[in-house]
Amino acid sequence: MARVYNFSSGPAALPEEVLKKAQREMLDWQGVGMSVMEMSHRSKEFISILDAAKKGIRDLLHVPDNYEILFMQGGASTLFAQIPANLAQGFTTVSYLDTGVWSSKAIKEASKYANVNIVASSKEQKYTSVPNLVDWNINPESAYLHIVQNETIGGVEFDQLPETDLPIVADLSSTILSRKIDVSKYALIYAGAQKNIGPVGSVLVIIRNDMLERSQDDLPTVWNFKQLALNDSMINTPPTYSIYLAGLVLEWLLELGGVEQIEQVNIEKARRLYQKIDSSRLYSNPVDPNYRSRMNVPFILADESLNQAFLAEAENAGLKNLSGHRSVGGMRASIYNAMPLSGVDALIEFMSAFERKYGY
Ligand SMILES: *Cc1c(COP(=O)(O)O)cnc(C)c1O
Repeated sequence: MARVYNFSSGPAALPEEVLKKAQREMLDWQGVGMSVMEMSHRSKEFISILDAAKKGIRDLLHVPDNYEILFMQGGASTLFAQIPANLAQGFTTVSYLDTGVWSSKAIKEASKYANVNIVASSKEQKYTSVPNLVDWNINPESAYLHIVQNETIGGVEFDQLPETDLPIVADLSSTILSRKIDVSKYALIYAGAQKNIGPVGSVLVIIRNDMLERSQDDLPTVWNFKQLALNDSMINTPPTYSIYLAGLVLEWLLELGGVEQIEQVNIEKARRLYQKIDSSRLYSNPVDPNYRSRMNVPFILADESLNQAFLAEAENAGLKNLSGHRSVGGMRASIYNAMPLSGVDALIEFMSAFERKYGY
């Protein structure tokens, strides 16, 4: 069996070591005689799996003690609604930065709960940049400020946070664990698991304790952040297998040396790939170089009629899922933590050979 290099944006590649460990433990998890999938979520075995996953996040991201770590359900898209439902009660306005498709979707959901103040938008630049911090027009009366620090479709990423008294809420779905962050700067961080944490099914939420007090009793119980925290993410049955696999990925990452270590690999992967694109006459990347994503690298071909050949030949070379998002076209290579440097090198080598073959 040959495994390919999978450049999918999500669900995305998982570390092979993790899949092998899950395979070994599939029928009998650590001598209990059953699969994790078959265990009660209230069993001491599963509680130990959940605790280990939480500890993995706490250790890897240096999460301070005054934050809760939750594993929720419904994808990051459900959080788009849950966040204003929980955090905006008693407020009339919420502030959102608009840097791409995911920001827009979050804004659309929030507007069902409150007036949305768009602090700044890069829509006129076709979402190829991030508005300068000095130009953000943050309404100080807002319940919070929402940002998406890596736009998975546009391939736009930023690091710097604004100076503001508002609680900062961040969708880090496609960048979490890929680089160091200072959790204490945020009030709430959320991330769907299927990009950089594990398989789809759970959403990681890291929430500062004082934010839990905003959740009112009239919310649907399974949406209520405070209740979720009080019940250790288990108001109802959590996605147990997804959490288990996330725990294995976190263990893998800790063994590699943690976020500090993988960040260096991620910087190098992105550097090599952008360098290939920038030195080419066939490929180009439209994003402002100051805000290029380390995780999702979109590129277009100067001759679009070569798109199909590019994808077919890449697939033959064992390089899969390079097609861009249906809304933007072109190509996109997602190179999350689980994509090794050798996968990026294989892609670069293929891109060079393809260029030569078609006379560029
Ligand atoms: C993938 C993604 C989402 C949506 O995740 P779902 O789990 O499909 O709801 C939201 N935000 C960002 C930044 C994403 O990359």
